[in-house]
Parts: sequence; C-alpha cells; structure tokens
Amino acid sequence: MLRIVTLVENTTSSSEYDCKHGLSFYVETPGHRMLFDVGPNELFLENARKKGIDLAAVDTVILSHGHYDHGGGLEAFFAVNQTAKVYIRQTAFEPHFSRVGDPPKYIGLDKGLMDNAQFIFTGDELVIDDELHLFSAVEPDPVPSQSNGALMMEKDGQMMQDDFVHEQNLILSVAGEKILMAGCSHAGIDRIQKKAAAIIGRAPDRVIGGFHLYNPSAQKTEPDEVVDETARALLPTGSLYYTCHCTGPKAFDRLKIHLGDRLSYMATGSELLIGAEGIDTRCGLKCEGCEYVQSCGCGGCIATMGKPFHGDCPVAQCCQNKGFTHCGQCPDLPCDLLTQYSCDSEHGDNPAGARIERCRKWAGK
Ligand SMILES: [Zn+2]
Ligand SMILES: [Zn+2]
Repeated sequence: MLRIVTLVENTTSSSEYDCKHGLSFYVETPGHRMLFDVGPNELFLENARKKGIDLAAVDTVILSHGHYDHGGGLEAFFAVNQTAKVYIRQTAFEPHFSRVGDPPKYIGLDKGLMDNAQFIFTGDELVIDDELHLFSAVEPDPVPSQSNGALMMEKDGQMMQDDFVHEQNLILSVAGEKILMAGCSHAGIDRIQKKAAAIIGRAPDRVIGGFHLYNPSAQKTEPDEVVDETARALLPTGSLYYTCHCTGPKAFDRLKIHLGDRLSYMATGSELLIGAEGIDTRCGLKCEGCEYVQSCGCGGCIATMGKPFHGDCPVAQCCQNKGFTHCGQCPDLPCDLLTQYSCDSEHGDNPAGARIERCRKWAGK
C-alpha cells in the first residue's frame, strides 16, 4: 500500500493544520518511510505530529530542488532524524534568487548544511531500489514561463537565468503502479512526465506535485493560454493528476476545466491511499456482493473517479476533490452530505449510519 500525506503546501484541508507557501509530502510504501521535500521551515514537524507520523523513523528524504520552500525545513529535520539518507542534487546548494524586486531575493538553501553526512548527492539518474528511481536533467524549457523567467542562479560570480539542473523527480513503483512525484516542475510538468514515460516505457499512472503555473513573489498566475497548453499536453496520457503548491488556485481551476475528475488537489493535511485492501468506495459502502458490479459493469466510485453505475456521485467527488481516498480521512466526517446518504430512509444504510462507521474504521478512528 502507498500512503501519501501532504504535510505542507500553500492551502489547508482543515483549520487543524497550518499551511505555508512550500511543499512537503510524507510517503509510506512497503519498503520506506519517506519525506518528499521538507517545506520552508519546521511546519512539517508540527503537522506530522498532529497526524501521528514519527519523523525519527523516516529512512529516506528526497529533496526535489534547491529552493527554500522545499528545503528550508532541512535543519529542523536533522534535529529529529540523524539516520535517514537525504538525496539531493549537488547543484541544489548553488545560490538561487528571484529577481522580482530589487535587489533580487535569495531563495536558495542554507549552504551551511551542505557538509551533513546524511546527504547523498545524486547524478542525472539514480535507481535507489525496486521502489525508488530518481531522474533529473530534463532539458530546460527553451521559452521560460513567466514564473520561471524571474528565477536566477549565480554561477562563477555571474547572475544568470536558472537552468534547473538542480531539480530531480521521483518515480515510485508501488502497489502495481508507477507514480511520478515532482516538486515544482520548473522544467515543465509535461516535459518531466515525458521523460518519466521514456524511463518507464508508458505514461505514469499518477502524477503528483506542483506544476509551477504561479509566481509566488509576483503573485501572478500564468496566462490562460499557457495553462490551457499545459492541460492539452497532460490530457492524452491517461494519468491521474494530484497537484497543489505552485500550481496556484486560479490555474488549478482552469486545468480542472480540461482534466475534470482526473485532477485533484492535495491540500495540507490531506491523504492519498493507493492499493489499500478492502477500501473500494469513498463513502464507506461495500461494493462486495453488489448486484450492479455484474449487471451494470460498475467499477465502483474509486475506479470510476466518482461516476459509478448510477451517475455522478457528489459524495465521491467531494472526497476526491479534497484529495482523500475515503471519507474517513476527512476532518468533516460525518458531514451533512454523507449523513444524508447514509441515513436516508429509502436508499440509506441498514442500519442507518453503517457507512459512516465503516469510514471511521478504515481511518483507524
Ligand atoms: Zn522552486
Ligand atoms: Zn516551490
């Protein structure tokens, strides 16, 4: 089973979890307890504690690139974990700047941490084991987006356009799926996905990360044409997309027009469970033994992304839009909508509320 918890991103799924511009995912696989990025500061520690996640037990950290909003929490991580291997591109420690404003603002990592023995400096490609495959060196976009255009690096004393060689991405092989994880996708999510597909030999089943369609310093979203072009590139792959952070809310809404139910948002505190046995619906109903599986060829609301045999299901769609696998992970459980479905006198559960109880059980509550 694969469990991905959003520890930090720009928005939150509930008032219980603070959020901040940046990115950090906790990833649990059969073989690893990992962090993919550590966010801008120590906030990931606080949210992990609230989720009951023990960061001292983390064995692997993947740092996607050398910007503070992904690696600013490194010092705080080293204070709680002295054993995990931290995979990072060597160039991630080069000085990086945003030139929105004068003088340009330093947005790089803390170079003072570079000598930490936990770092493993990665090349263009690294197969860590059967589950984890890192790759970089996606050719930089010849026409930098508006958001990338403002990002600079300093090399040999010269300020120049950032080439994003310091960026790396992860292919996860878990639960029979290939899952691409990217941090900010500075090289372009479509280009990163193409490279991943070339490595895997097919499109990834899921793509998770920021798609960099928003410039946080200038607080500007990419023009509609750029967002539309990105969506058109992502559409034919068949992959499911989960995004947040530097995609920005406006670009997310626009991407959703194109990608519909294939696009979900992963706000701080949300969880994604893949390959969890026995969880076959969002709302807690059991598909097992349901006559419509056979008679209507219904694949259930998870497999059909919220469109089971009876049409669009608002409960399933609400759940997946929040980035949850099932309603048990939602802080609003039991919400009015689920209660209405579960306790309906004609079509509800017998006994009423059974699926709410099952969701609680799935969530271990
Ligand atoms: Zn970045
Ligand atoms: Zn970022």
